[in-house]
Amino acid sequence: MGTSAKKQKKNSKKNDNKTTGTAGEKPERKLTRQTMIDLYQARQYLGLDTLKETGLRMPVRVYFKDPAVAADTEGAGIDDEFTTPWEPGLDDGPTSARFAVVDYDATKNVLTPPAIWDARKNCYLAPDRKTVLDDEVKELYQYHQLSVWATVQNTLDFFESGAGLGRRISWAFEGNRLIIVPHAGYGENAYYDRGSKSLQLYWFESEKGTVFTCLSTDIVNHEFGHAVLDGLRPYYYESVLAQTAAFHEFMGDLTALLMAFSNNAFRKVVLKESNGELTDAQLLAGLAREFGEATANAPYLRTGLNKHTMQDLAGNLEPHALSEVLTGTIFDILMGVFAKHQKNEVERAKAGGSKNPSDIRALADTVPRMQMLAIQPLDLLRLSHGVAAATARADDADQAERLLSLMLNGMLTDPAGGSRTGY
Ligand SMILES: [Zn+2]
Repeated sequence: MGTSAKKQKKNSKKNDNKTTGTAGEKPERKLTRQTMIDLYQARQYLGLDTLKETGLRMPVRVYFKDPAVAADTEGAGIDDEFTTPWEPGLDDGPTSARFAVVDYDATKNVLTPPAIWDARKNCYLAPDRKTVLDDEVKELYQYHQLSVWATVQNTLDFFESGAGLGRRISWAFEGNRLIIVPHAGYGENAYYDRGSKSLQLYWFESEKGTVFTCLSTDIVNHEFGHAVLDGLRPYYYESVLAQTAAFHEFMGDLTALLMAFSNNAFRKVVLKESNGELTDAQLLAGLAREFGEATANAPYLRTGLNKHTMQDLAGNLEPHALSEVLTGTIFDILMGVFAKHQKNEVERAKAGGSKNPSDIRALADTVPRMQMLAIQPLDLLRLSHGVAAATARADDADQAERLLSLMLNGMLTDPAGGSRTGY
């Protein structure tokens, strides 16, 4: 993976980091703690660049997708532009206001020491209190702890930000912190568990070596999507209806899909890989590649690029299978919105705009639209009933948007034509 030129670039970048952080020099963080806290309180008014510059967003080197994608897709390994929200009171674990990483392995009966917070350098360290945790030490469990925490900390911000729900989301349980267990034990599994207020991420052996589900950004985001939906609609978790369980699974895959999609650097790789055709963008649409390869001998676990309908799945009560209808629908919508923005790009250029039409820009414009379309209606979901899945698949973006409103907002009214199944 990677050319030697690329490696050199990466190394020089690393050396830069190292020289600025050696002992005896001035602390890297130039702002006082009080200034940081003041800025933190005004963070929703600050642009991304300012947030990064002030340290209000911290760089953490996480996988774009997972180690399997990293191994065979040029440019889709470690995301070196990734940042996650800083907040006052970060602590070892990592522990933040809404999350606590507790690295207890029930199979081995081992509690692994936590990543150490260095408030002076504004970063997490290995237990030796010297080694900065990044992908250079990706075999360290503390790097896994940091990677999983940084992922959910960023995803929660995505849901709570202005283009998302624009408010704090509560958990479905008492207490402020969702517990994250990055090495819960041996097993081909990962799940959200309300009873223990936790995400449990397992590890297992495959032909290619140990698979850590905590290193799969898709899996972490999927499980976290369950926790978010449970906070928003707790009765869904208790429903015995297959469609409601399928909606939970959809919410997990939607979270994974939108988080990958909202990543600027990743979108560029996706466009390059698929020659600008999202109908071929399995890199974006395919979820949990490493897990799928190891457990199902498939190129991914599930995918948004599917043509399933409720008719195909008549009689199938398996929630993950049913959820693919909704995930496929949302991917249709994403492709439709992208096509609209591509058209806008062409029209703008024709009308005398100075810029040539750009797929990269069209896809970037699709991001906030998708965030609004897919996240904001969550507040309109029925409180206690199951969610019906759409029976139709859309052909174009307008139809797709109508379908989305039927799926989400439309639950409040009875759609004419009855293009859905029962509850
Ligand atoms: Zn799930």
